[in-house]
Amino acid sequence: MARRANLIQVPQRLSLATDVETAKDPVCGVEMKRKDSKTILFRPGQTVYFCSKRCMNQFLNQSIAKKTAA
Ligand SMILES: [Zn+2]
Repeated sequence: MARRANLIQVPQRLSLATDVETAKDPVCGVEMKRKDSKTILFRPGQTVYFCSKRCMNQFLNQSIAKKTAA
């Protein structure tokens, strides 16, 4: 019998957090891996991840609407 234990090696990483880190689309609520997000909005002190450009536009429209209403 072949020993296959050698094929499985634990990656030498302190943490898998960066790869697994997810972000939630604030518009449609979809959770995705950050690297999989289609659109990223960079704001001062805040980075928002979206599943699509449409969601980002909706998010921006809502932000503007809130500011206008206030
Ligand atoms: Zn979305």
